[in-house]
Amino acid sequence: MTLEFPVDIDTVKGFMPPDEGAALLEAALQEAGKGPCLEVGSYCGKSAVYLGSACKEVGSTLFTVDHHRGSEENQPGWEHHDPETWDGEAGAMDTLPFLRRTLRRAGLEGTVVPIVGASLTVARHWRTPLALLFIDGGHGMEPAMDDYRAWTPHVMPGGLLAIHDVFPNPEKGGRPPFEIYQLALVSGLFEEEAGMGSLRLLRRL
Ligand code: SAH
Ligand code: MG
Repeated sequence: MTLEFPVDIDTVKGFMPPDEGAALLEAALQEAGKGPCLEVGSYCGKSAVYLGSACKEVGSTLFTVDHHRGSEENQPGWEHHDPETWDGEAGAMDTLPFLRRTLRRAGLEGTVVPIVGASLTVARHWRTPLALLFIDGGHGMEPAMDDYRAWTPHVMPGGLLAIHDVFPNPEKGGRPPFEIYQLALVSGLFEEEAGMGSLRLLRRL
């Protein structure tokens, strides 16, 4: 599959470099035939375009979870704040309209199902085994650990766990995604496969 989407991916706000997005798409193409995929951290839908395009190709579904109020680093005054995502009336960020717009423009409204809510709340009621789980939500220690504990048990045997923003060098970025990647490895439940950049891919044994 070539990396041509109905939407110009460069115009979608977000944090997914093209090479890592391509690796994500490739992984989802391999996995999504076995069951649905789920992403924690939709933001404006950039990674959802890569994952969702693969799901569409093989007739699968991507669920994407986000409360749409932004992570710590997306808030005003922080490094990754985008003033356009600020909802003045709410006095809070709201990225849901951007996600919907991205999915519409990408022709993925029939493939990608947005779930608006806190990751832990959604996970508590989740029952469906996942062919691929992509963790890219809150990057603080608590949210990252919560996502690891709440979601990884739902990866089906033989399925894939993808973790974004894994930076072994603390100077390159926050460490919590790296910590949960380490946890997955030492758990003995996952085996590492080839990743790309800060994207790590782990196979559920
Ligand atoms: N995958 C996106 C980037 C995600 S940014 C891309 O490709 O561009 C991280 C997202 O996680 C933010 O939108 C934030 O709102 C969301 N998030 C952080 N903590 C969360 C939580 N506890 N529950 C739900 N969403 C959360
Ligand atoms: Mg990320």
